[in-house]
This record gives sequence, C-alpha cells and structure tokens, in this order.
Amino acid sequence: SVAGIPAEVPGPNRTQNRQLSPAPAQRDGFTNTPDTDPSLAANREWADGIRSRMVASTLGDDTVAANTLSTAAEVSERIAAGVAAGEAWRALGAAGRAEILHRAGDVLEARRAELLEVMGSEAGKVIEQGDPEVSEAIDFAHYYAESAKKLADVDGAVMHPVGLTVVTPPWNFPVAIPAGSTLAALATGSPVIIKPARQARRSGAVMIEALWEAGVPRDVLQYVQLDGRELGERLISDPAVERVILTGGYETAELFRSFRPDLPLLAETSGKNAIIVTPSADFDLAAKDVAYSAFGHAGQKCSAASLVVLVGSAAHSERFRRQLVDAVRSYEVGAPEDGTTRIGPLIGPAEGKLRSALTELHPGQSWLLEPEKLDDAGQLWRPGIREGVVRGSEFHRVEYFGPVLGIMTASSLNEAIDIVNDIDYGLTSGIHSLDEDEIQQWLATIQAGNVYVNRGTTGAIVQRQPFGGWKKAAVGAGSKAGGPNYLVGLSEWTDAETTT
Ligand code: GLU
Repeated sequence: SVAGIPAEVPGPNRTQNRQLSPAPAQRDGFTNTPDTDPSLAANREWADGIRSRMVASTLGDDTVAANTLSTAAEVSERIAAGVAAGEAWRALGAAGRAEILHRAGDVLEARRAELLEVMGSEAGKVIEQGDPEVSEAIDFAHYYAESAKKLADVDGAVMHPVGLTVVTPPWNFPVAIPAGSTLAALATGSPVIIKPARQARRSGAVMIEALWEAGVPRDVLQYVQLDGRELGERLISDPAVERVILTGGYETAELFRSFRPDLPLLAETSGKNAIIVTPSADFDLAAKDVAYSAFGHAGQKCSAASLVVLVGSAAHSERFRRQLVDAVRSYEVGAPEDGTTRIGPLIGPAEGKLRSALTELHPGQSWLLEPEKLDDAGQLWRPGIREGVVRGSEFHRVEYFGPVLGIMTASSLNEAIDIVNDIDYGLTSGIHSLDEDEIQQWLATIQAGNVYVNRGTTGAIVQRQPFGGWKKAAVGAGSKAGGPNYLVGLSEWTDAETTT
C-alpha cells in the first residue's frame, strides 16, 4: 500500500481509502487516533461516498429489529445472563480484556465509514462532527484497555469489577458516549447492558456490533430497547445492577434516583456553558471559537457554549461582533447528506423553551443575528445570537441545547466570572485572553469541570482533556471520562494483603 494509506479492510463499505494526517498526536505513550483530514482529495471522495449512502441507510436495522422493544421477561433474562457471564469476563484479567478492547478500537476504525453513515442517517450528524466522534470512541477503546492494565498493577491494592453495569447514553453523541461508558466498564471486568437513546438506536447498534465482532461476548455486552418508564425502572431497580452510567439531563438523574435512592450512579448531566472574552483577546480567534462551540451540531452538545460574556471595552467591540456574525453566516444549514452542510437538523422539532429562545425576545434584548426556521417541521434553523441577556434572567441560567447564543456584558473580569459561577451547572467554560494574569485569575476561580483557554469549549480529546462536570453537571462520583481516574470510579478496591 502507498505510504500513509492503510491497507484495505474487507467487508461491506469498509474500503479504508481514507488518508491519515502525517503525525498523530502522542503524549505519555498514548497516541490519539487522527481524524480524517478533509484537505486531502481522497478523503473528500470517501466522505462523498458515505453521504450518498445516508438517506437509504439500513445499517443497524438487523440488530435493532431483533431486539425491538424488550419485554419485561427479556429485561430479566438479560440481567440474569449478564450476571452469569460476568465471572468469565472478570477471570480473563485486565490484560486479556485489553487485547479484546484494542481489537474493538481497530474494528471501530474499520467501520468508521459505517458509523458516519448511520449517524448521519439517523441522528442528522454531519461528517465533520461525526468523524472526531468516531476517533474519540476508538481512543476510549485503546485508552481504557491500557488504563485497566495499569490499575491492575497498582502495588498493594487489588482492583475488582463492580459487576453488572447499565449504560444509558444520550442521542447527541450516539457512538462516542455509549462506546466510552461501555468500554470503561468492560475494561474493569464488568458486564454491560446498554439502553441506547431512542433517537439513536441504530447508531448504538452498529457500535455494539463492532464490539461483538472484536470478541466481546454477547452476554457480556447486551442491548435492551425500552421506551416506557416502567421497564427502565425495572432495569435500574434490579439489585443485580451494580452501577448505572448516565449521560443526559439532570432531570433524568433525578428520575433514576427516584427509582432507587441508593443507586450507584455515575452521571454527566447538562451544561450551560460560557466563554469570557476580555479586551486583551484575539477577537478574530475568539469569534471563530465561540461560533463553533455554540453552533457545532446545532448546539446539541452538553459542552456547547450558550453564552459569551464580553468584558470591559470588549463589550462594545464591533470587530468581535462582525467576525462572529460572519463566522456563523458561513455555516450552511441543511441535510447531513448534502456536502455543503455544516449544521444539520435538530434531533426533533424545536419545542418548549428552545422554541421560545429561538423566537421570542425579552425587553431590552435584540437580535445580533436573527434565527430563521428553514423547514415546516421546525428542525432546521439558521442560528441566532441575542444581545442584552441580563444576569438572573432565564437565558442566563437555562440549558437550551440548540442553535441560539446569548451575549452578556460585564464591567470587569471578576464580574464576568461571578456571572458564570452563578449558573447551577459547571461542565465546560472558556476564556479568550492574551493576558497571563487574567488567565490565572480565571483558572483559580472558575467553577467548571473542563476549562479551556483560547480554545472552544467542545471536542474534549481523550487523555488530554478528561471530560466531566462540576456542580449540577455531575451526579455521583465526579471522575472524568477519558482520564486516569475514570476506571477507579467503576471498580472496587481492596488491600493486596487482605485478598489472597
Ligand atoms: N465530550 C463532548 C465534548 O467535549 C461533549 C459530550 C456531551 O455533549 O455530553 O464536546
């Protein structure tokens, strides 16, 4: 094969003629998987092929159909099967499991095109957004495989799997989040039952098929489809379930806790994130980062920027506003199968609070850029930017999960930090500043799990930017996905002396 072009992997739609960028990032012995470089003609052709298959795609259908709405009896069967399969999986040891997990990373890579096809087809994800998501899933496989081996080797302590783990992922990252949670639990030796998000079942199914193909036994990784609350409650309330890993809304975590008050829950829940821009900032870079953080995947990320807080003279910056509006206008809104689209459809029609945020102004507010609905259903929107959001108002505090950004102003950096810390959630936070003192002041006082300096707030990279929240953005043990402590929160520990 030509240098830089990996050999072809056989299988339907698996031609890997995608070219790698020359130097994948490497740190502390871990190498992140490179995203597909769209500046290379071969990769643009590869992406065109994927888009041409999106509309008629049936990937994942077989697995999903086979499981179509689990019955109460099936839920009980899966729980029993998972518990029974757990012992052999644990006995494989961290190294034996790591081999399978590394293979899972390779199969996910071989199925990159399929994963992009199904995410576009089912969840409206454009390739530009889905591609790094597949890389993240692959990174999780390799990273947790090695992580578990290191933890199994800690002197004086023995790591034990907690046992049957239920994974309830969201629809917005239909591959990376279920893969990450599942691979983490599997790496520690626990069997897993996933309940994929209703809107992203087929994407979840293709990810699961990849793990099965890599050698994860089907009883060790099982799949249920639940719609009603009743069966969800039955699953979560079963005493054989030792952990639940939830990524979703804060209300869902509350609901789960109402099912079972002592629920051992590891949850990443909701965000309302802001980027502060000070007068010292590079306004051009800030505008570009704010635009992408706010409107990538139509703002449907827990990590998305929902507010920008302009400090001091930056509050009056025409340059920042012009650059921001230009950047946002450059994003084409449309269907994921269309090659020019940068922002795809919302997962469903904009309703409730999001609809109001896209259509109603409050006294004293104006549109810097007015949102525009492009379809009858209300799923396709040109993004909106609103001026004049005031402290304590709904827009200051509520998560909308859609393509609308609010501008706030503050007379000092201190005040800007207060405004941001006043929000109940603390998932991601950003600052654009070229002043070292400002950056240090912000780092010392900002309340967020992921803090980004002169960078957007989305797209955390495994190992480099372990991802997780603070305050109402995290429920349960707050250890971060893709970081060195994540597996600790999914295992139990005893002293080496007491276990022989
Ligand atoms: N990890 C993703 C990011 O850094 C966000 C995940 C989420 O929305 O839950 O953008």
